[in-house]
Amino acid sequence: MKFGGTSVADAEKIRAAARRAIRAQKQGRQVVMVVSAMGKETDRLVDLAKQISPAPSHREMDQLLSTGEQVTISLMAMALEEMGAPAISFTAGQIGMVTDDAHTKARLKSIAAEKIHKELDAGKIVIVAGFQGVTESGAITTLGRGGSNVTLVAVAAALKADLCENFTDVDGIFTTDPRIVPTARKLDTISYDEMLELASLGANVLHNRAVEFAKKYNVPLHVRNSNNNKKGTLIVHETESMERIVVRGAALKEGLARVTLNNVPDHPGVVARIFHQVAGKNVVVDDIIQTIAQNGEATVSFTVEIAELPECRQIVENLCGEMKCSARYEEHLAKVSVVGVGMRTHTGVAEKMFASLAAEKINIQNITTSEIKISCLIDRTQGKKALRVVHDAFNLGGKKTVKKKTAKKKAKKKANQ
Ligand code: ADP
Ligand code: ASP
Ligand code: MG
Repeated sequence: MKFGGTSVADAEKIRAAARRAIRAQKQGRQVVMVVSAMGKETDRLVDLAKQISPAPSHREMDQLLSTGEQVTISLMAMALEEMGAPAISFTAGQIGMVTDDAHTKARLKSIAAEKIHKELDAGKIVIVAGFQGVTESGAITTLGRGGSNVTLVAVAAALKADLCENFTDVDGIFTTDPRIVPTARKLDTISYDEMLELASLGANVLHNRAVEFAKKYNVPLHVRNSNNNKKGTLIVHETESMERIVVRGAALKEGLARVTLNNVPDHPGVVARIFHQVAGKNVVVDDIIQTIAQNGEATVSFTVEIAELPECRQIVENLCGEMKCSARYEEHLAKVSVVGVGMRTHTGVAEKMFASLAAEKINIQNITTSEIKISCLIDRTQGKKALRVVHDAFNLGGKKTVKKKTAKKKAKKKANQ
């Protein structure tokens, strides 16, 4: 069971999570809890670091940010013990959650599950700190913002758990972020592939690597609300009937920047050289576009998260000096996307999406597609509006919302008559 920040935001919430774990144990289960930092603690720590240094070293950021989860694990263990349930908490270092050394976005390599098994067999509830890892040489790492659910799935896979529950502050996975689009509808099931796309395209309810792991290791992931007992959303392997739904959900990724290199020599190996340097700095590149070359020169552009822009700028400035090309940087971008496995067998999705954005005078600055998604790069100021527009265009809120509106309108009309 994983409890996110809002689900452990204060002492009462911690006690509620502890009670839920005890209930599961009383039903005959062995329980491992993965917890996040309390409330907005990680944001607070990031802010604190910024007050000290504009560009702190990634290693020290990890030292700092990992403290948030360490507070929660010990408080959770205390809450359980107070309720009479034997419990033990572990940091990543204590249970060998080994990662690579890419500080602030480390990848998990292995988990030593024996220690967890031993404590479970002794009748304890085991609490594991989410989001953190440790390198082979003992440095503390973190898995990227929102990375506690990566810990959850990795622990579930390592233990071959029967159930893997992600408790959060919404009832499950919705057709889009319900905080931005109130008409969003909760889904009972969604395929790993659709969830992976949505998570990568901005649905931060799950970290994309958590979904990747869940698919790879066949972990049935259940996303639920920690404030109630309702059935949430099950993330499962694709079934044939899933293809009947063309668009399952929509997502918005804000805070994107675009780097454009003009007059790039059109020779084999040039693009490889650019992205070799970018990858060398562990910068995650979103989309890459190269235009058709003219007069032996091409234009190459790529998008990254704004936080990665200073690093990219350094690399690109050096490259431009060497290759005699020029660079341009744009910061105010967002990406709106629709996702669905049904796109493999249906046509007309792109046309509908483009038309809906055009009708609202939203300019598309770039388009990328895969078998099951279409994404449009737009100005950041229009991001939320664009999400609502495409969500409506594909009627993702369902007929109920439309009917409700019509019923309301009718009632108003009647009242006016
Ligand atoms: P936690 O702290 O539990 O990990 P997060 O805030 O990281 O919680 O993630 C939950 C939030 O994700 C929700 O409150 C919601 O605003 C947002 N979200 C974005 N896209 C979706 C979606 N498609 N379905 C559900 N929630 C979504
Ligand atoms: N506490 C970390 C964060 O806020 C990890 C998580 O909550 O999943 O990003
Ligand atoms: Mg989260």
